[in-house]
This record gives sequence, structure tokens and C-alpha cells, in this order.
Amino acid sequence: MLDFLGNLKRTHYAGALRVAHEGQSVVLMGWVARRRDLGNLIFIDLRDREGIAQIVFNKDQSAAAHAKAETLRSEYVVAIEGRVVRRQKANPEIATGEVEVVASALHILNTSATPPFVIEEEINATEETRLRYRYLDLRRAKPQANLALRHKVILEIRNAMSELGFYEVETPMLTRATPEGARDYLVPSRVHPGQFYALPQSPQIFKQILMISGLDRYFQIARCFRDEDLRADRQPDFTQLDLEMSFVRPEDVFEVIEQVMQRAMRVIGVNVAAPFRRMLYKDAIRRYGSDKPDLRFGMELADVTQFFDAGRETLKFEGSVFALTATGGATLSRKQLDELAEKAKGFGARAMYTIKVAPEGIASALAKTLGDEAVKKIAEAAGAKSGDLVVAVAAQKQIKGTEAAALVAGQMRLHLAEKLNVIPAGRPFATAQGKSFASAQGKWEFVWLTGFPLFEWSDTENRWAPAQHPFTGIVEEDLEKLETAPWEVRSKGYDLVLNGVELGSGSVRIHRADVQARIFRALGLSDEQARQRFGFFLDALSFGTPPHGGIALGLDRVVMLLAREKSLREVIAFPKTTAAQDLMADAPNTVPQEQLDDLGIAIKGPK
Ligand code: ASP
Repeated sequence: MLDFLGNLKRTHYAGALRVAHEGQSVVLMGWVARRRDLGNLIFIDLRDREGIAQIVFNKDQSAAAHAKAETLRSEYVVAIEGRVVRRQKANPEIATGEVEVVASALHILNTSATPPFVIEEEINATEETRLRYRYLDLRRAKPQANLALRHKVILEIRNAMSELGFYEVETPMLTRATPEGARDYLVPSRVHPGQFYALPQSPQIFKQILMISGLDRYFQIARCFRDEDLRADRQPDFTQLDLEMSFVRPEDVFEVIEQVMQRAMRVIGVNVAAPFRRMLYKDAIRRYGSDKPDLRFGMELADVTQFFDAGRETLKFEGSVFALTATGGATLSRKQLDELAEKAKGFGARAMYTIKVAPEGIASALAKTLGDEAVKKIAEAAGAKSGDLVVAVAAQKQIKGTEAAALVAGQMRLHLAEKLNVIPAGRPFATAQGKSFASAQGKWEFVWLTGFPLFEWSDTENRWAPAQHPFTGIVEEDLEKLETAPWEVRSKGYDLVLNGVELGSGSVRIHRADVQARIFRALGLSDEQARQRFGFFLDALSFGTPPHGGIALGLDRVVMLLAREKSLREVIAFPKTTAAQDLMADAPNTVPQEQLDDLGIAIKGPK
């Protein structure tokens, strides 16, 4: 028989009890995390949002409550009346470990089916099971802490934005397509058969229109929807801090974001210095082989192509060679080096060469072909010291106008840094409260990347495509090159990167209708197509648009980094799998025929 809640009122969170509560009568409510039956004594761990408290049922003191406690099973929902006492032997592992509650009454409010996995921190369940039973997974302390952190970070960001003079404005979910380089999720209209809304890939057009409306400073914690091919670090619907400001230069946007991020970081006790570092895109590629460089450690790349000139014939290749120093890598075994070479090939290298720098001298098979002097110069260029290993990778082609060898070396840099454990990452930890998993340890390296090209050549579409979205501003001096040398046109775009993770991008926009029309043309859209897709926006641009710019940061990513998680799924309450499925709600799914009929939709069958 279950009990009613009746007039019972909770007095404390179980997880909040401390020595200071000793002697107090309390009413606690929560879930049975564990039960130990020692005959006359029954112990349960009572779990609620704030943590776990130990409850004791003593047969000699309250026989009725003790008898009832015998029927408790995992995840039953209970209310407990009792008194806080000091434990004879404290448990330093949990925050409530110095006290326990001697129960005088037990109310069983609900039973529970046997959970598919035991709800504890180190759980033994596949991610699929965890996602299917997400409500149970979320009962664990860590996901709870992650959601609490998420709340605090977003609250801090909202407050910061408001204090900086931004208004939060909601933009529509049912709207027209806004291009951000992904496919749209479409929503069929019932009242306009054959017509569709698109869910926004971002509020881009609306936020620009708000600038035309004179709102001056807009922000939104915005849900965005992008139908992309499966990628491990993406979610089809996700949250951005989206903002737009009028009469600004890129620096003004940087300043706002720097202040906001400083405050967000303080939530986990980290103070970061501003202004953040700045780096040109081309320097990031040359020095780190990446457009999102992880600056927490060195191991910079060196272009050592020139030293290979003498050996081209023997080594039989034409492209370029980039080298880097694997700090302390001289101790790697033959087998480990073979594995490295395999990795390099997997990243697209044509060949990998190594140079060992030891106290006895420099050793490399390259010496035979290139000579000792060249090998020494390569090691110097890579900045190797005694005990290090120089890894050089050769690749032929260019990828999107950049040296493929640099990009391969960039991937090797990350791989080696991880392998040799040189990234000052800081580790997640659980405090005694089981509450704070985020930690201030490790380095936090922000960097702004600028100087991106406006266009990228798209092999699949055989035309120039915007490197970002088509509203990105263009460096004024490059306007003439728009039609003659589009690859040389520089954008007014920027990216914010933290510890090798791209947090988001933005730009100062095109604010003139004539320039916007030229961009559409350069992108291969006829005036008619441009009008058809963006006519309303071109119209709006023609009515006194102020210069403006903005940015959007991936909030899921920010929280993931602060929570020291490796997956976005750990910081989103109800995430989707990499196959874009919601395993708990079982979406996407079929719909009843009547609903399709209402919409005038016939399913052609799977492709
Ligand atoms: N709308 C862009 C995005 O979502 C960001 C921006 O340009 O403000 O990536």
C-alpha cells in the first residue's frame, strides 16, 4: 500500500544535511539509492537533487517504520521523518558523511520498476541504454551537476549581456530557410498545402533585420537546427549565444564576448585575461596546421620543405614537408614509431620521417639521403632538444588552398601531444559534495582567428561557396576582386577558439544591398534566384541599414568544456545520438496516415 503525501512538507534536501543540523527534526523526500539490511538495523541511502544522506531504521526504536523499510527497493520514492544525529564513524566520501538521520516514520510514495542499470556514478551501461532511459541516467550526480552548471553559465551570460545593453529578442522557429551551410529541417504547412516552413539554422537574417529596425544590440539564447551528415561533435538541434550589434568593428564584438566569457569562466572559478590572443587564419595553419589551434602547448610546426630539395629524387615526391617536435619523444619504441607512421598515413601523409635527438647526437635514416647537415637544420627548425623526437610529414596536394602537409602535421601535433601527455588539460573531479565536477585546473587558451578568405571552392558544387554564410562582410579594398579573383577576397569574419575547440564564428556584415547582390552573383545565384530566396532581406537592406556585426557561440560546447566533458551529449538534457535519433522518445518516427493526408504528403518510400 502506498502512502499519500498528504500534508507532509519537506524541510531539507537530503544532500544538504551537515553537522550544523545535528539534533533537528527533518522531513526528507527522495529516492532509495541503496538499502542494507542488518536485521535490527536497516540503512538506506536517500538520494535527491543535492546528494545522498544515510537513513537508519532501528527496530527497537520504531518498529513500524523498520518493518516498512524491509519492503523498500531501489528507486522507490519515499518521505522520511526523523532526527539528524552524528555518525559514529564519518564517511569522508560524501558531503553528508558526518551525519545520519534516525527515522521515526517512513512514507512510501511510489514504487519503481527494477531499473535497467544501477544508478551510481560509475555506471555499467552502454550509452544507448543510458539515452533510452535518460530520466534514470539524469538521476546521477554528474549529469545533475552538468545541468546545474549549464543553468549557472547561461544565467551569468544572460545577466552579462543585459548589463552590456543587449535586449533578448525571440525570433521565429517557423520561418524561411537561413543558410548556414547545412540542410534545413522542413515543416510542412497544413493550411498552405504544398508549402513549407524551415526551422532556422540560425537567427541570422532576423538579427540583421533587428539592426535595420534600430534595436542596436540584440542577443538570444537561440535554438538552431541543422540537418547535417553524421558528425560526432554535432547535435541537430543545439543552442547558441547569438548576438548582433550596430555601428561596430570586429574589435567591438570581441570586447563584448571577452567580457561575457570572462564572467562565464568565473562560474567555475577561472579568471582569464583579456583581450584574448589574435591570430591570422593563415598563421594558424602554418604554425599549428589547424583553423582551431590548441594553444595550451607548443610543438609548433616548421615548414622544412627546402631541406628536402636535395632528396626529392630519391624520396620520390613533390609536395611539401612540415615538421614538429614531439617533446620527450626520443624514447618512443620502434613499434610506437611504426604506429605513428600509420597514423600519419591515415591523416593523409605520403610519408613520415623521424629524427631522434639524443645526448649522443642526432639520428635519422634521412641522413643518408639529405646529409647530416640538412637533418640537423630540420631538427633546429623544429626546435628539438635532447630527448625529443622530430616528426616530419610529407604530402603532395593542397587542400582548399592550404598545404596538405601542414594540415597533416597539425593532426599529428594533437595526436602526439595527447600520447605524450603534454596537454595541461586538468582533470574533472568530484568534490566531496559530489556537486562540482568542473575544475579550474589546467590552461584556458582563447584565441580569435581573423583574415579568413570569403570564399572556398566547393568541389562538390563546382563553384565558389561562402566560407561562412553569404552575409559575411568583405574587406573594402578587396571589393574589386569579387568578380576577377574571388579567391583573394578577404572576409570580415572571425572565429573564437578555446583550447582547440571552435566556439563559434561571426563577422561584420554586408550592410549595403548593392554589395549583397554582388555577393549573391559571385556565388552563382542569378538576380532572380537571389530575389526568390532573399528578396525580403534585400528589400530590408535597402532601407537605411546601419553597419553591423555579430557572432554566435555554441553554448553546448562552452558548457562541455567547462564541465570537462568529451561529448556534447553529457551537457544536454535530452540529446540525440550521432545518428540524429532521440532514443528515449524514439524520434524521428512515422506519423499516422491522417496526419499525412492533412498535409497532402505522400511518402515515396525510402531512398
Ligand atoms: N549565424 C552565424 C552562425 O550561426 C553566426 C554569426 O555570423 O553571427 O554560425
